[in-house]
Amino acid sequence: MNRSSRHQNAGKSAGKGAESESALIVAAHGRHYVVERADHSHLHAFPRGKKSDAAVGDHVRIELAAADQGVITAIEPRKNLLHRSDQFKSKLLAANIDQVIIVLATEPSFSEDLLGRALVSAEALDIRPLVILNKTDLTARLDDARRRLKLYQDLGYDTLELSVNSRPEEALAALQPRTAGVSSIMIGQSGMGKSSMLNLLIPGVEAQTREISAKLDSGKHTTTFTRLYHLPETWAVVDGKPGYLIDSPGFQEFGLHHLSEGMLERAFPEFRERLTDCRFYNCHHINEPGCGVLGAIEGGDISPRRHELYTQLLHESRQQKPW
Ligand code: GDP
Repeated sequence: MNRSSRHQNAGKSAGKGAESESALIVAAHGRHYVVERADHSHLHAFPRGKKSDAAVGDHVRIELAAADQGVITAIEPRKNLLHRSDQFKSKLLAANIDQVIIVLATEPSFSEDLLGRALVSAEALDIRPLVILNKTDLTARLDDARRRLKLYQDLGYDTLELSVNSRPEEALAALQPRTAGVSSIMIGQSGMGKSSMLNLLIPGVEAQTREISAKLDSGKHTTTFTRLYHLPETWAVVDGKPGYLIDSPGFQEFGLHHLSEGMLERAFPEFRERLTDCRFYNCHHINEPGCGVLGAIEGGDISPRRHELYTQLLHESRQQKPW
């Protein structure tokens, strides 16, 4: 933040002279946030209203409510906002993301459903995905994992094979150029190696984690929350732009009820060029005659696995959403 962006928030706090300042949200748990101020110190913060619609990665305006507490008064315009949602609720994952890193492993076996959903969520927001297959040292399951990943490589997705534990230097050399100067979120089931990757990329990250957790806890123990970490300035700053790595708690389900049908069909890159082949302009690509997508499946150009995922996501998208 530069000095000129500090200003008197005269409109909202007339008379009180409360000063507002820019901050970055680095952790979120319900209505509890930790924000990073311009001097890099951390502060516990709350949203002003009941709703907490700020996410990790958001640039916000805060006012000091006490020496150790801030109030979030506004969210700066954001580039994008990554969600997940089911029929009951919609959860904010992170904002202002440049790259979604999907972390998979040879063992335990990764969920292809989760991989497909993470790719769709990135595509829907036009965010670049990077697929990582970790634990390639566990060779018994390597061929199987590669076989399952081939479909995604053929679709053009950048996939990277790593062994964070047994070949850390190689992993670091591959990850540094891909994470420098951008904000990445890691997504994956637990046990895939996300924490190991975080430790590799950010030596001493435990101290950062402890400090943020202490701010967030305020007495109670919370372990599952999304956090933003600074990648080391020695290699991650590109043209003055820092590299951020966002760690989200491992999850099994990645509901995408919030995506519309129009967003869905475009989030499958292999469908896109077929959409103009459909006989009906409002084709749903489920069972319509003369459908370009179904034709490509019959011709072997689109995988039935991907179409199954599309059908399931379309079904979810049509559910009622109380949120
Ligand atoms: P997370 O739940 O995704 O954060 O996964 P962790 O980083 O905690 O890793 C889960 C387990 O896999 C730990 O016991 C790690 O030591 C192990 N692990 C991580 N990377 C590798 C790897 O490259 N090879 C092997 N064999 N094990 C790994």
